[in-house]
Amino acid sequence: MKHMPGSLFEGYVAFKYGRFRTERARYHELAKKGQKPDVMIIGCCDSRAAPEMIFDAVPGELFVVRNVANLVPPYAPDGEYHSTSAALEYAVQVLRVGHIVVLGHARCGGIAAALQEDSEPLSPGDFIGKWMSLTEAAKQDLVNHAPVAPESRTETMEKLSILRSLENLRSFPCISIIEERGRTALHGAYFDIETGVLSWYDRASGWFRPVEVGLQPPV
Ligand SMILES: [Zn+2]
Repeated sequence: MKHMPGSLFEGYVAFKYGRFRTERARYHELAKKGQKPDVMIIGCCDSRAAPEMIFDAVPGELFVVRNVANLVPPYAPDGEYHSTSAALEYAVQVLRVGHIVVLGHARCGGIAAALQEDSEPLSPGDFIGKWMSLTEAAKQDLVNHAPVAPESRTETMEKLSILRSLENLRSFPCISIIEERGRTALHGAYFDIETGVLSWYDRASGWFRPVEVGLQPPV
């Protein structure tokens, strides 16, 4: 029988006697009053791209949903199980977040696999193939995109996929309405796991720009 992994045990002890102590008052307050995060993040399951770490977040600050390749499916009230859509609905209608960020990242295994023509699916199981078919629109965007150097193809696709997810976010009536009213802003972001550089989608240029440390936050 396998025990609790030692790394989790040691990590938990470090948290309980370190960060939890430092943040005790905040946890106490959050337990009493409930959470009220202003930011929702849709990130990838990838172990190298944890939103709470990238944004050095404190407890209660970020409402995070993570899925394979940080994809947002289009609005589809079809009676099926939709975990990402359920999280979105909760964030918007109950928590009333002021920002929704689709956070993509470099070297995304899901996106890389989606780009490999005639490749084996990511797994022999029942779910990933269907889920990754959500990238078809972004793949088409890549075809229509200005020519891209072969070494930049994956990165461009990762970013185009973020834009498609933003578009899909807007297909949810409850989201498009609050965006129009200015109550909630939608953002795209991209994290380079090798350099630690975060890029932010810039509406003016229609593409991603590195966040300049020490300057004003991007719009
Ligand atoms: Zn990923």
